[in-house]
Amino acid sequence: MSVPQEYDVVIVGASIAGSTTAILLAQRGARVALIEQQRDWRAYKKVCGHFIQASATPLIERIGLASRIEAAGGLRNYGEFWAEWGWIRPPAAPQRRYGHNIRRETLDPIIRTLAAETPGVDLMLGYAVDNLLVDRGRPIGVRAEGHHSKSVTIGARLVVGADGRSSRIAQLANMPKREWRNGRFTYLAYHRDLPTARGAPSHMWLLNPDVAYACPNDDGVTMLAAMVTRDKRAIWKSDIEGNFVRMFCSIPGAPPLSQGRRISPFIGAVGMSHIARTVARPGLALVGDAALAAGPLWGVGCGWAFQSSGWLADCVGDALDQPSSLDNALRRYRNRHRWELGGHAFLISRYASGRRFNVLETLILAAAARNSWCAGHLAKFADRTIGASQFLAPTAVARAIAANVIHLSAAMRTQSPRVAHAGRQESEVESANRHCFTGQTKEQELRRQRDQPERCRWLRIGLTHDCVNAAGE
Ligand SMILES: Cc1cc2nc3c(=O)[nH]c(=O)nc-3n(C[C@H](O)[C@H](O)[C@H](O)COP(=O)(O)OP(=O)(O)OC[C@H]3O[C@@H](n4cnc5c(N)ncnc54)[C@H](O)[C@@H]3O)c2cc1C
Repeated sequence: MSVPQEYDVVIVGASIAGSTTAILLAQRGARVALIEQQRDWRAYKKVCGHFIQASATPLIERIGLASRIEAAGGLRNYGEFWAEWGWIRPPAAPQRRYGHNIRRETLDPIIRTLAAETPGVDLMLGYAVDNLLVDRGRPIGVRAEGHHSKSVTIGARLVVGADGRSSRIAQLANMPKREWRNGRFTYLAYHRDLPTARGAPSHMWLLNPDVAYACPNDDGVTMLAAMVTRDKRAIWKSDIEGNFVRMFCSIPGAPPLSQGRRISPFIGAVGMSHIARTVARPGLALVGDAALAAGPLWGVGCGWAFQSSGWLADCVGDALDQPSSLDNALRRYRNRHRWELGGHAFLISRYASGRRFNVLETLILAAAARNSWCAGHLAKFADRTIGASQFLAPTAVARAIAANVIHLSAAMRTQSPRVAHAGRQESEVESANRHCFTGQTKEQELRRQRDQPERCRWLRIGLTHDCVNAAGE
């Protein structure tokens, strides 16, 4: 088949990954066709947590987007975490790189406009790609159906799939994929006038195994989200608002819902599995969610959409003229993607099952609540600015063990019988809180606590102190 190669690159999908790739490649002199099925340039992704990890900040600054995000009210942000050992409050900027919080409603039109304004990018709105054009096994372009059934054929040296988690391009190119079931479902809702609305960090409550979030965004809107294990789905479905309110009323330091107002319906997301695909083959590459759609719990997808676009552009930017050098460049992109995200993706995919923390995670989280170096180290991993091998380096694990041992021996020295008694009362309050939003009966909750693996129990000693601190927030 022969198709005129009017473009160097055709990119399918003009959201975060597609627009970023288009900007970066056009800045290097490529002629880029950017095709988006939505007709309206203001279209945006409806289900997202809007928290962009700090790992993407250098790329966001490089394409000139940071100033536009901040001009539109987006916030510089970072995460703080609560786990049963207390708050994990890593040092803030300048020691820690910041990320951004901005609703997709605001972000998507900004980045699409930035792409359309970049010389060399032709943005084609309202065209859904439905076919991959192939010559002797090599992709050479796409066919897209426009509204009013007007179809176009676009030839290019490189086809890029930036078309999200259920990528049509990946399907048409038969890109191998692996998929892990998500054991949690999500409900999120937007609120106004909550006390966390401006300037405060985003909060994540690791309720083991459930998770809750509060993320302040542009325009004074805070997104609250609950990610709950699937066994509670029927209970939640029968009373979403009641369960949501009970959850946020029972977690320490949560924004008081009574002081704000909910401005959206509850938005549910079920079945968001973790999908990892082979990200490149000769003549074709995948970026963003099309390449790796991580389970949503850790809020990494937008950051990785920016970053993977940057890696692709850096690899292929100077290699678009020659098919052989392009294919070598695509191989480099594939290796870079695996090197940068393989460890993160492995850990995220395993935790997506809905399981409770394992011993190593328990050790690290407890240490992070007790020691500022461990908190900072955990934050670098959660921000995705260090990889899994650095995060779990023997020295880091040794420091976590030491932090726990020091804390526990101090707690054992100071714990009087009266405090121990208070500890039992505290744990009952905790238990009552927990079962009120997990939908379990108190008997079920007590049985679950009794069945806690013995190996984790030693880490719970000294918990009273942390709980009192947390409750005193
Ligand atoms: C519940 C939930 C919460 C999340 N929270 C966060 C969070 O807090 N932080 C975070 O970083 N990530 C989060 N994510 C993930 C994040 O939303 C995605 O990772 C991100 O949107 C990926 O961007 P993308 O550009 O790769 O794909 P998308 O944003 O999905 O864009 C794909 C684009 O391709 C277009 N398209 C699709 N098919 C075609 C076609 N055939 N022809 C033409 N165009 C096409 C679509 O219209 C769309 O514009 C969350 C996800 C979920 C489900």
